[in-house]
Amino acid sequence: IYPIWRVGKKIRKLSVTTQERMADLNTAISETVSGVKVVKGFCREDYESERFAKINYAYCKYMLKSIKRSLLLSPIAEFVGVLAAVAIFILGGREVINGRLSFGVFGLFLASLMSMVKPFKRLSQVHSLNQQAVAASQRIYQILERQPEIEEKPAALAICRPEKEIVFENVYFKYKESADYVLKGINLKVDIGQTAAIVGPSGTGKSTLVNLIPRFYEVSRGRITFDGIDIRDVTLASLRDLIGIVTQDIVLFNDTVRANIAYGRLDAGFEEIQQAAKMALADDFIQSLPQGYDTIVGDRGFKLSGGEKQRICIARAILKNPAVLILDEATSQLDSESEKLVQKALDNIMAGKTSFVIAHRISTVVNADKIIVLDKGEIKDSGSHQYLLENSGLYRNLYKNQG
Ligand code: ADP
Repeated sequence: IYPIWRVGKKIRKLSVTTQERMADLNTAISETVSGVKVVKGFCREDYESERFAKINYAYCKYMLKSIKRSLLLSPIAEFVGVLAAVAIFILGGREVINGRLSFGVFGLFLASLMSMVKPFKRLSQVHSLNQQAVAASQRIYQILERQPEIEEKPAALAICRPEKEIVFENVYFKYKESADYVLKGINLKVDIGQTAAIVGPSGTGKSTLVNLIPRFYEVSRGRITFDGIDIRDVTLASLRDLIGIVTQDIVLFNDTVRANIAYGRLDAGFEEIQQAAKMALADDFIQSLPQGYDTIVGDRGFKLSGGEKQRICIARAILKNPAVLILDEATSQLDSESEKLVQKALDNIMAGKTSFVIAHRISTVVNADKIIVLDKGEIKDSGSHQYLLENSGLYRNLYKNQG
C-alpha cells in the first residue's frame, strides 16, 4: 500500500501539469489554424512549427513521466508480492517441517493468498487512474464553480420597457486589471427615442461606457437608471431582453441564415424573419444565395462579404425589437457601397429606438440628437453637431481628422 500511495500522489501532481501542457498545446493549435493567413502572410511557418514542437515536447515530457510512474506500479506490486511469497514460504515451510501446521492447510493458505494478488494489482492500477481523474476534476470544478462577477440581487424584479429616460449618474468605472479609472464622473441623460452618439479618440472608454448598460461590467461608483430604476436592482435577463447589440465583431453561427436571424427571437415566424431581413436590406442578397434563407453561413458555411454579414446581424437585432440599441458602428472597414447599405440599415433599425452609437466616423452621426465627446474617460462636451462645431475645440479636431 505504501509504494502505491506514494506513486499515486506523484501521478496526481504530474497529471495537473500534463493537463496544463495539453491546454497550451490546444491553444497553440487553434491559434495557428485560425490565424493561418497571418502565419503565412508573415512567412512564419517555421517559427510556428518550432513553437509547436517546443510546446509539444513539454507536454510529451510530462506525459511520459506520468506514464512511467503508472507503469512502475505493476512491477512494484509484483516485486512486493514475490517478497511476501518468499517470506511466507520460509515462515510457513518452517511451521510445516516442525509439524505445527499441516501441509494441506498451508497449501490452502498459499492458494488463497495467490488469488488475492491479481485483484490487488488491479486495485493499484485503479488508484493510479483515480489520481489522474481527481487532478482533472479539480481543473474542471475550478471553472464550473467560478462565481459570476455580475450577480443578481435575490429580490431582483423584471424591468419594464423604459418610457422616459436612461441616465448615467456620476458613473465611475475601472477594470479589475487597470490601476486607474477608465470612466470618471460620467453624467449623461438620454431621453427615450433619442440617439446618443459617442465620439472620441480610441482607447478613451467608448466601448466600456456602452458595455455598462447591459451590465457586462458593473459600475464601480455611481449608478445607471432606466426611468429612475437602478439597473443593479433588476434581473439580468429582463434587462438584456430590452437591449439589442450590433458589435464590430461580426458573430454568425454555423447555421442557416434563417436560424442566425431568428437568434434574436427564437419563436419568430418566417414572415417576421423576412421582414427583419428586408429592413436590414439583406433580403435581396439572401434570396440569391444557393439555398436562400436555408443556406448555411458562418465559419464553415457559405462565405459572405463583411457588409452582408453585418446586415444579417442587423436583421437579428431588428427581429428582437429591443427598446435600447447599442451599435458599435463598424462601417469603416467596408467599401463605400456596402457602407451606404449598412448605414441605411442602421438608420432603419434606429428609428424610434433609444440608441447608443459608438461612432468611428463623425460624418455618420451628425444627425444624432446628442453627441457626447469622450476624452480620457471623461465627458468633455456634449450637444448637437452644430453646437459642438461652434463650441468644442476637441470635437472640431476630431471632425477634421475623422470626417
Ligand atoms: P474605446 O472604445 O474608446 O476605444 P475602450 O472602452 O475599449 O476604448 O477602452 C478604454 C480603456 O480601457 C483602454 O485603456 C483599454 O486598454 C482598457 N480596457 C478595455 N477593455 C478592457 C478589459 N477587458 N480589461 C482591462 N482593460 C480594458
